[in-house]
Amino acid sequence: MNIVDGVKKYAKTDRLAVIEREDILSYKDLDKFSDIIANYIIRNSKTVNPVAIYANKDIMILPVMIGALKSGRAYVPMDVSFPQQRVDDVVEAVCPDMVFDFTDGEYFFNKENREDKKENYKNVQIISRQDLCEIVEENKNTELAKEVPNDQWVKGDENSYILFTSGSTGKPKGVQISTYNLNSFIEWMSPILGIDGSEKVVMDQPAYSFDLSVSQLYPGIANGATLYSLSKKVVADFNLMFEEMKKSNMDVWVSTPTFIGMCLSDDSFTEELLPNLRKLLFIGEVLPVETARKLRERFPKAEVINGYGPTEATVGISHVIISDEHINSGQSLPVGVPMPNSKIKIVDEQGKEVPKGEKGEIIIIGPSVSKGYYKNEAKNLEAFYVEEIDPWTEIDAEYKKELDKRSDEDKEFDNLRYRAYRTGDLGSILEDGNIKYSGRKDFQIKLNGYRIEIEDIENNLRKVTNVKNAVVLPVYKNEKIAFLKAIVELKKSNDLGNLKNGIKIKKELSNFMPEYMIPRSVAIIDSMPTNTNGKIDRKKLKEEYL
Ligand code: AMP
Repeated sequence: MNIVDGVKKYAKTDRLAVIEREDILSYKDLDKFSDIIANYIIRNSKTVNPVAIYANKDIMILPVMIGALKSGRAYVPMDVSFPQQRVDDVVEAVCPDMVFDFTDGEYFFNKENREDKKENYKNVQIISRQDLCEIVEENKNTELAKEVPNDQWVKGDENSYILFTSGSTGKPKGVQISTYNLNSFIEWMSPILGIDGSEKVVMDQPAYSFDLSVSQLYPGIANGATLYSLSKKVVADFNLMFEEMKKSNMDVWVSTPTFIGMCLSDDSFTEELLPNLRKLLFIGEVLPVETARKLRERFPKAEVINGYGPTEATVGISHVIISDEHINSGQSLPVGVPMPNSKIKIVDEQGKEVPKGEKGEIIIIGPSVSKGYYKNEAKNLEAFYVEEIDPWTEIDAEYKKELDKRSDEDKEFDNLRYRAYRTGDLGSILEDGNIKYSGRKDFQIKLNGYRIEIEDIENNLRKVTNVKNAVVLPVYKNEKIAFLKAIVELKKSNDLGNLKNGIKIKKELSNFMPEYMIPRSVAIIDSMPTNTNGKIDRKKLKEEYL
């Protein structure tokens, strides 16, 4: 199922596609508005370059996304929390003919102090929300309202969206995701979330610039569900957010573990608030055991799903339903079994596959893997390659039958399944087929000759009685790690200060870990800063604490 086909199918019903506070958008309007926008884009563009969207949450964003897809162009979502430099970098990289600006002039129209950037924007048409509404309103009965034929839509291996993720070099990298990639994701993820074409409400909180949001958008819209948007403004006001959640009566929750961790700190965040909730999906960072335990207690009727994957492999490629057994095992939670049409390979530093159970870098091979970073050959060579062996010898017969049922168009691209991505993540395959995630390749350090996984320390710190969350940062002197510093958020704040809290925490921590792994210094903070994607912002912590 393709997302645009989904829009067409449910446009024949009275279902709602998006709700954002008092605003609603039906599937009928989504289909109609996106045709107008697609025709407008086609008529007013000089190139087929991607269309950029600068926004957070708004019912008119989806018509622009679908409009871009119908016009045969990819869209590039930029969240309003992107710093100016990042917006300029993205615009410079993709050279859009149009940017849809939902901030009503906060960024693009306020050109004071941006004289030096004018050159970059001279060929870009900036369309405000008001312009957009006028375009739609004025063209409801004109030529532009004509249905865009499906041979014009983005298809096959053409880009549907490009998501910019922060690059280690400081310039963002644009991950290109095609219709082919997305169809594979939709087929896999929809049944996991119970999104089956019946009327469902799906939470729409993660920013569209974060690939996790694709989990609600694509399975949701392809299957006629209603997205219930929670904007940054709503999330910033806990009372309002809980009111909105109550109103939503959502069936499906999608967020980072950090976001739900915040919600869990409020005692009213229970089944009573969300009685219909049956699926909770987390992808993007470690799901702490304690978070999962609380969720199982507070939402006993819901499945807690831990998914794993990078943006480069279309959001997620493995999942597991967390059981009480997982929670009580004393181990970190597994990140799941790979989707049936993909293969995970664990390799050593020479790129050789290691025996089952052994740790190495996680390589993803399959239809989810992106064709690479947009116009960034150097990085593509490092991260992507084509796998030469046939990794599908392991596909079971039942699944093969399913694959054969797909459209000819998707089958045509099957050779693309051999694309492979080096994740930089470390992991192993457990006896039961689950992937165990063991941190980043680049988070492994050597301290005084000892090999240490930073995340190992962080996981142990979270076991300390009064520790809610912790990040460990290596402190370098003369290009060598001199010591480790722990940044800690307490469960119950006190006025003991860094030193006394540090002594207490380190003493307890020494129950779980050898001495050489204990961070030398501890800094207490009120709350962990998070980035646009809702993950802990390590870069910011480094800037502030090192
Ligand atoms: P992103 O591209 O922002 O989604 O980040 C992808 C990275 O997040 C992966 O390469 C992993 O390092 C990490 N990640 C994703 N899912 C999980 C998970 N369930 N547990 C731990 N880390 C995860």
